[in-house]
Amino acid sequence: MVMKCSKCNRDAVIFQNYSGMHLCREHFTADFEGRVKKAIRKHKWLSSGDRIAVAMSGGKDSSAVLYFLKKTFGDRRDIEIFAVTIDEGIKGYRDPSVVEKIAGRYGVKCHTASFKEHFGLTLDEIVQKKGDRNSCSYCGVLRRQVLNGLAVKLGATKIAMGFNLDDEAQSVMMNVLRGDSERLLRKQSPVPGMIPRIKPFMYLPEREVALYSHMYIEDYEERGCPYSHNALRADVRELLNDYNYRHPATKYALVNLGEGLKEGPGGDETKAGICKVCGEPVFGECGTCRVLKEILG
Ligand code: SF4
Ligand code: ZN
Repeated sequence: MVMKCSKCNRDAVIFQNYSGMHLCREHFTADFEGRVKKAIRKHKWLSSGDRIAVAMSGGKDSSAVLYFLKKTFGDRRDIEIFAVTIDEGIKGYRDPSVVEKIAGRYGVKCHTASFKEHFGLTLDEIVQKKGDRNSCSYCGVLRRQVLNGLAVKLGATKIAMGFNLDDEAQSVMMNVLRGDSERLLRKQSPVPGMIPRIKPFMYLPEREVALYSHMYIEDYEERGCPYSHNALRADVRELLNDYNYRHPATKYALVNLGEGLKEGPGGDETKAGICKVCGEPVFGECGTCRVLKEILG
């Protein structure tokens, strides 16, 4: 039997176990978009004059962020939206033409930068050299720098990321499991030269983002990265999904914890600066120089 929407008489498309509501397509969309707008207001993520670079992977989350931003702010003449994508050089996985196609459909320009042109190596070559055990930490650190560099070059004022509630909860949990108190407590104060990141979907569960994308986005790609099995994230994801099944508010609780720790006393704002070696904006030690030293020897 198809359940009926808790707000009207149409067939429900989703059950939210944390709110106890069944929602139809229309009420789900309104609820989803309403919560994203609320997150944007809460964090004051958008203002007049913003040039938003949407960091796209071609997958469901970032494609849905682009769709949402265009739908909601596309008519605002004081806000500009475009797409950026980073080609790490992972054969069979990363394909910038997928992003270009999706961006094209929403009438936005897509700009690409690659590991190869920045560091002289693709991620595949790094893995060949160093083995694939640390592929994700190298990839994450290097991507962050290339993405920021591209956004600076394009005059972006914000970088919009596709992270959802599950991603955010996993990140908090991973910092806990690594014992990384510095990351948990680090305040998100502006760093000169580092474009602020906004995460419109950070309070929306992955399955709701998946449903939203499924309803509104044509041909996004969900290919798996061949190195993703190495990530601590994959273990944490499984652990949290299992636990969250019995305790539906857990992911929200973790994200709240992450935000609370950053806002509370004890954060260190003094370490923002410029790396003496590469000249890029950094917090504390430069992650990019550390990784490059490690992989280039
Ligand atoms: Fe990079 Fe790891 Fe993501 Fe693959 S799974 S794209 S290696 S961070
Ligand atoms: Zn309804």
